[in-house]
Amino acid sequence: MPTYEYECEKCGYRFEKFQKMTDPPVKVCPECKSRKVKKLIGIGGGVIYKGPGFYTTEYRSEEYKKKEKEEKQALSSGSSSSCSSCNSSGCSTCNK
Ligand SMILES: [Zn+2]
Repeated sequence: MPTYEYECEKCGYRFEKFQKMTDPPVKVCPECKSRKVKKLIGIGGGVIYKGPGFYTTEYRSEEYKKKEKEEKQALSSGSSSSCSSCNSSGCSTCNK
């Protein structure tokens, strides 16, 4: 579950809250009970991932790119085994 960071504009109290993505944001300061709480938007859009199973967006996108590249390589190597430009044996492109 992501951690959201909040700051009270009235008393300056900063706190983090574990919330589901679908949970409504905190509106009332737990310290002074004012409604001046704002969600801090920083690196990662105010969302901090903590603990095992959670990764930063950067890491996840890198993993995604890596996987995508591997899939593309697997695809291209698979297509090279069946050459569309020839039907004869001894083709240098498809090694048939
Ligand atoms: Zn406050």
